[in-house]
Amino acid sequence: MQEKCVVCQQPVDEVNVARCTYCGKHFHLAWSVDSPIENCGRPLIDDTSQSMVFICNRCQELLERQRAMEEEFRERRDRELKGGGGTNDR
Ligand SMILES: [Zn+2]
Ligand SMILES: [Zn+2]
Repeated sequence: MQEKCVVCQQPVDEVNVARCTYCGKHFHLAWSVDSPIENCGRPLIDDTSQSMVFICNRCQELLERQRAMEEEFRERRDRELKGGGGTNDR
């Protein structure tokens, strides 16, 4: 059975492939610079374990969206905390 790339849905070969840490699916990752393969993800240093993991473009996108949302949430909360004031009355 041939594995398919979770990002582009094309079959992956046995060499230029990596497993995404987040969704556990395989995706294209060119291990040699001159291999005619487009990367569908990238290596990444995991913050908590400080080890190298891999992430596919789909999870990368999700993660970025999540981070952007968290940042927006934090900014809004900061603004409310600073601007709000006057909550010590009662
Ligand atoms: Zn792919
Ligand atoms: Zn993934």
